[in-house]
Amino acid sequence: MSNDKLDMFCYQCSQTARGTGCTIQGVCGKQPTVARLQDNLIYAMKGISAYNKNANNLGSKNAEVDEFLTKGLFTTLTNVNFDAEDLVKLALEAGETNVKVMKMLKEANIEHYGEPTPTEVEVGSKKGPGILVTGHDFKALEELLKQTEGTGINVYTHSEMLPAHGYPELKKYKHLVGQLGGPWFDQKEIFAKYNVAILATTNCILLPKDEYKDRVFTMDVVKVPDAPQIQNHEYGPLIDKALELGDLEDETKTTVTTGFGVKVILSLADKIKELVSNGKIRRFFVVGGCDSPHPKATYYREFVENLPSDTVVLTLACGKFRFNDLDLGDIEGVPRLIDIGQCNDAIVAVDVALALCDLFDMELNELPLTIVLSWMEQKAVAILWSLLYLGKTDMLLGPILPAWANDDILKVLVENYNLTPLGDPKEDIARIMKDDGEQKDGKKVGIISKIEKKILNK
Ligand code: SF4
Ligand code: SF4
Repeated sequence: MSNDKLDMFCYQCSQTARGTGCTIQGVCGKQPTVARLQDNLIYAMKGISAYNKNANNLGSKNAEVDEFLTKGLFTTLTNVNFDAEDLVKLALEAGETNVKVMKMLKEANIEHYGEPTPTEVEVGSKKGPGILVTGHDFKALEELLKQTEGTGINVYTHSEMLPAHGYPELKKYKHLVGQLGGPWFDQKEIFAKYNVAILATTNCILLPKDEYKDRVFTMDVVKVPDAPQIQNHEYGPLIDKALELGDLEDETKTTVTTGFGVKVILSLADKIKELVSNGKIRRFFVVGGCDSPHPKATYYREFVENLPSDTVVLTLACGKFRFNDLDLGDIEGVPRLIDIGQCNDAIVAVDVALALCDLFDMELNELPLTIVLSWMEQKAVAILWSLLYLGKTDMLLGPILPAWANDDILKVLVENYNLTPLGDPKEDIARIMKDDGEQKDGKKVGIISKIEKKILNK
């Protein structure tokens, strides 16, 4: 290790150095890279578990996912696996498992709530009492919407609950009125600002401030000290609290659009094919993921703002709030900014990418498609390994590289996948698009001519 990070930290067994922790190498012989790969595997499994739990809540189960989680955890036990190469293979297997679990969750969401369709959502408060729902659990939202119908209470989404507005069986409730705030990390400001009852269904909850801690309710695995926990979707106390708090005032609203599912995007396939082959769309980007208040995360807005007008951006998860207020317009009816949903909807991006491969008869890495990931917590780790499992190369990762990946691990990721840290947004765009070509003197060059030849030769 050439930097000043701890080489490793493990204190899981009684042999731990000085009774406090193995920090240079394990008393058992475990090397730092193995320790870090074990941590990496655990983080990916945490992400898979979150999606698995949400799918389980909707009645969906997959024995292969459950078996992998058990096997993966067992692997990280003391004196079981000291093989770095095998732990990389297991990380890729975690990526494969995460594809399965994201697919299961997407199918369960569609089965229960219908295929999402693009929906404009108002951001701001309406006159009347309110409940704000944050997290990812649509089942929790649905049960709340049923129980609040006719009470006069307005229900708002926050953070990752925004995509709920795109699902027919959720948006049919007229009192699901809009969104308050943006990503999870604005909650201390937003929860204090709006005098509503708050339901936290999953992450990302922060320890509540005094101003609003008496209005926070949690459920399922989410808990914060002193906040009442809702059991079995029995929302009586939450509803009483909302009514007791009284009315919010009407605010001037802005709007954002969410709810692009695979079917909606693929209904544009013929048009996309035409636009790509005649050079009117030069490149697709997936920009998003879990977001954090890290100063470097301003990169994502600058990146999207500076993209040329012949590019299309798919976005998802909290990362979208960095730029989903931008009006990027459309390219002959194809929107330039497409919100595909929550972090688990990375599976939608995968499905769209694979459909583009079929459409243009190209391999995944030949497509004019670049992924610019933001990561914060461990679901994003699972998603990163899913993309690596699918063989996606040339991705950008930020706002910082994972601290548990030491030089040895980063070397593998760079050499095999050309995983790149964020640089300067304009320079990164210029580098990514330098070979894409454009219409020059009536001739098509670069990726455009390649795609046209593929189509003509079919
Ligand atoms: S498992 Fe190995 S590295 Fe971890 S505490 Fe025990 S001896 Fe140390
Ligand atoms: S997308 Fe990630 S950061 Fe945002 S609420 Fe979900 S888990 Fe948290």
